[in-house]
Amino acid sequence: MKKEFKAESKRLMELMINSIYTNKEIFLREIISNASDAIDKLHYRSLTDKKIKVNKDDFNIMITIDKKNRKLTISDNGIGMTKDELEKNLGTIAKSGSFDFKKENKKKENIDIIGQFGVGFYSAFMVSSNVEVISKAFNTEEAFSWISSGIDGYSINKAQKDNYGTDIILTIKDGEEFDKYLDEYSIKGLVKKYSDYITYPIKMEVTKTRKKSDNSEEYEEYKEIETLNSLIPLWRRNKKDITTEEYDTFYSDKFDDYEKPLAHIHTSAEGTIEYHSLLYIPSHASYDYYSKEYEKGLQLYSNGVLIMEKCSDLIPDYFSFVKGVVDSPDLSLNISREILQQNRVLKTIANNIEKKIKNELLDMQQNREEDYLKFIQSFGMQLKIGIYNDFGINKEKLQDLIMFYSSKEKKLITLNDYVSRNKDYTNIYYACGNSIDQISMLPQVESVIDHDKEVLFCTDYVDEFVLKTIGKFDDKEFKNVCSDNIDLETEEEKEKTKKLNEESKDMLDLMKETILLKDVKFTNKLKDHPVCLTSAGEISVEMEKVMNAMPSDHKIDADKVLEINENHPIAKTIQKLYKTDKEKLKNYTKVLYAQARLIEGLPVENPTEITNLICDIISK
Ligand code: ADP
Repeated sequence: MKKEFKAESKRLMELMINSIYTNKEIFLREIISNASDAIDKLHYRSLTDKKIKVNKDDFNIMITIDKKNRKLTISDNGIGMTKDELEKNLGTIAKSGSFDFKKENKKKENIDIIGQFGVGFYSAFMVSSNVEVISKAFNTEEAFSWISSGIDGYSINKAQKDNYGTDIILTIKDGEEFDKYLDEYSIKGLVKKYSDYITYPIKMEVTKTRKKSDNSEEYEEYKEIETLNSLIPLWRRNKKDITTEEYDTFYSDKFDDYEKPLAHIHTSAEGTIEYHSLLYIPSHASYDYYSKEYEKGLQLYSNGVLIMEKCSDLIPDYFSFVKGVVDSPDLSLNISREILQQNRVLKTIANNIEKKIKNELLDMQQNREEDYLKFIQSFGMQLKIGIYNDFGINKEKLQDLIMFYSSKEKKLITLNDYVSRNKDYTNIYYACGNSIDQISMLPQVESVIDHDKEVLFCTDYVDEFVLKTIGKFDDKEFKNVCSDNIDLETEEEKEKTKKLNEESKDMLDLMKETILLKDVKFTNKLKDHPVCLTSAGEISVEMEKVMNAMPSDHKIDADKVLEINENHPIAKTIQKLYKTDKEKLKNYTKVLYAQARLIEGLPVENPTEITNLICDIISK
């Protein structure tokens, strides 16, 4: 007699068969996991009940492919199911949780229904037109079969089976899309991908070829049973017994990266929460790393069974470059994405992992300089973004890790390096620009370096925002050497400049009006250079450049100041012109301002006017 599924089960089955779940291939993982659980149960009983005699070496999961009849069978010699259990376990779906259809339907695309509700077994219907389960419970005489072709129901009948355990016989759907589930090579791949670390051997009869005889040129096919999984995962082995090469090979196999990683972090934690983790820091950023397509996350295993390819909750964004696996028996196999986020075990593991990564990076920074520089080249940007994201909430964790080019050392250094050797400074000096060369030629920078100050060169567009977010480091404030109050002159020099500016106020005002700037003033910090552009206030010229390059209607304007070298001949020229030819002074002012903009890497606002003016001047 055919029985109907319970109403809720029917709905769920419909959803499942219509493949809400995009990743059909995981059905095999689900069935193998069930088989492994069934063996676990018997294994446990045999350990606790002396009367039960089973040899644990006999435990296995066997996969058989019958291409001709489109059948894929997964057999286990686990605890098996009685007639009642078949009914109870396979007649009701979603028994492990109530199912809110309305909520789920809203975001149909990527929901992990299977993971969420312990409906693992039913995923078989995504790839099968018919599913038969033949099971014989341990220590019983009779076997039963459960058969269903989907939503219309199932029937349970007496069956023939010699040994205890369960056979799941799938009739694979017609269609090219499903052919791979009858292909030895693909099945091997799926077992490797999802179930490699199941602790019982997963075996399959595979076809091989050999010479018919030693001196024959003819080949014949033969069958041989192969174990497909490696049984003990690397991350569960003792660190002492693992070579660097093994770690590296595992990395390249698992994460498809043929460049050796910079570091691996292998942790086995026991105590309130038990977990094993094996993390890697890659030596380079993948081509899509800084794009939206990149998905961070660690592979998550529960007791050796892969439950998620990329568990993003395990790793903060600023460490999104880390690859690896986490395996914990304290996580249930049926954990859902949403539940994961609030999962206490997962949170604790994530916190520990974050600390381990930070420590590994600090260790590399101190002891393996070359590797650390490589790391910074690839992922320094990510750390910097991490500092200013979320209103700087993570800055303390990350500020020790970032690096900047030092004018003194001529290489990248950390903020700690800077402050530890410049104890007498009240500021940390920095300058921004497109390249080291461009920055080192900025007039303002030259002057600060001449005062024997170390300057950090910021060439990443995020740099200045990062420094502003950090605010103060070791009680020292960050000071852009391109701001108008750099304050390195002696009192005497300051006094002289101040006096000159006061005396020239009318002329400077006229110049200011001509180019509509916040200020125009004399300075004595420019050595041989005639002019420079600085900024007053919070927004620097560099920040203006970066922010205005972003797609937004709202343009910002730094309060720019044109500074003129009081010791340069141009100072005399303009003072003279102010008395003799004010129109000419205005034109000269425009040219000087255009020069200052060019040095800063800003475009000239009115190039035609300026080039004409220059031509006028040089043709006279
Ligand atoms: P879950 O495994 O999440 O509970 P499933 O739908 O995958 O949900 O399986 C339902 C139940 O059927 C299992 O809990 C188990 O009791 C039983 N079952 C499934 N496969 C097997 C098997 N190979 N051997 C014994 N029992 C099984």
